[in-house]
Amino acid sequence: MEIQPKSNTATGPTEWFTGDVFFDVLAGARPEPSRMRVYTVRFTPGARTAWHSHAVGQTLHVTEGVGLIQVRGGEIIEIHPGQTIYTPPGEWHWHGATPTDFMAHLAMWEAVADGTETTWGEHVTEEEYGAR
Ligand code: MN
Repeated sequence: MEIQPKSNTATGPTEWFTGDVFFDVLAGARPEPSRMRVYTVRFTPGARTAWHSHAVGQTLHVTEGVGLIQVRGGEIIEIHPGQTIYTPPGEWHWHGATPTDFMAHLAMWEAVADGTETTWGEHVTEEEYGAR
């Protein structure tokens, strides 16, 4: 057994996020065959991911605030604490806070052998973000 030391809170890189985003690694890289990744991600009002997809899908569990998520070609959906959202492998989407609320979620996904567990695309524009 190992009681893990808390990792430092990191800021979301600007190439992957718009606005101020903070994450804590709860389950990071372990020796193979472990593939589990679990992060707490906190979005400040207006902050969101860029468009992206996950090679092995992703499960999000909202823990605080009010959030938004959109699949490419779909409507923006409001998400709340207690909700769990699954995006299947390769489905392009973004997630983040509303313009007026913080949002925190657990993000759970699996690594892949070649390291490309998440494929990142363009930022979510103000026009896309405001379209609800
Ligand atoms: Mn995602």
